[in-house]
Amino acid sequence: MPEGDSIWRAARTLQRAIGGRVVTRFETVLMNLARVDEDTPLAGRTVESVTAEGKWIVMRFSGDLILLTHMLMSGSWHIYRPGEKWQRPRLDMRIVIETAEWIAVAFRVPVAEFHTAETLLRRKGVGNLGPKVLAEGFDAEEAIANLRSQPDLEIGVALLSQRLIAGLGNIFKSEVCFAAGIHPFRLVSSLSDAEMRSLMSAAVKLMKANITERSGGPIRTYFGLRRDADPEENLWVYHRSGRPCRKCGTSIEWRRHSTDARSSYWCPRCQPLVL
Ligand SMILES: [Zn+2]
Repeated sequence: MPEGDSIWRAARTLQRAIGGRVVTRFETVLMNLARVDEDTPLAGRTVESVTAEGKWIVMRFSGDLILLTHMLMSGSWHIYRPGEKWQRPRLDMRIVIETAEWIAVAFRVPVAEFHTAETLLRRKGVGNLGPKVLAEGFDAEEAIANLRSQPDLEIGVALLSQRLIAGLGNIFKSEVCFAAGIHPFRLVSSLSDAEMRSLMSAAVKLMKANITERSGGPIRTYFGLRRDADPEENLWVYHRSGRPCRKCGTSIEWRRHSTDARSSYWCPRCQPLVL
């Protein structure tokens, strides 16, 4: 699943390419979108903004039309100049939004919906997101309060709940816990305020590093080595079970959370389990 920062980068790229531009052509193979486009055509509308909201890309068009896409595992947005050859087969195309200068193409997006401002408010899972880690003026205290509203969740599960705090994915979840020295299976109720704050600042720091350092490529939280060939060489704990902790040499462990079946990785020494 694309991590929050890659969604954020995709939204920023789209915003720069088509934000403020007039749609000259819209094409889709998705019936639900085609039907809306037939009734209320997209062509002629201005792209007011493209933003990342949690794991969603939200494109707002003039005249109260909003396109929501979720990338999940397979989807991606590309931008091309008119006439430029696409990097993925036409068969994978789901949506084309053309402007005079740039063409935005969504490939294999598994979820795509048109909304109005009103229906978006009612849409489950969007619009009621917690504070966004990468947003300007991220409110860590609000995120902490949200997390504290779920005292019985394991912190490794709570950090992925986009309603509590928006933007972290499974890789960052493990990396942020390591950076803060917090065992991912600790219950939220066991965490002190200082530990919560250290999680929040680790989240901001690691996610920001992934936006400013590079424009793409694998997530990097560990900067000790410069070996891009193996993406896991750029991480502290994620996918490193059985390998030595980069700080203390202890074997990294991993386990699935029972509540969401996703796994967390941790160093048993740097991140002791305190209940
Ligand atoms: Zn360690």
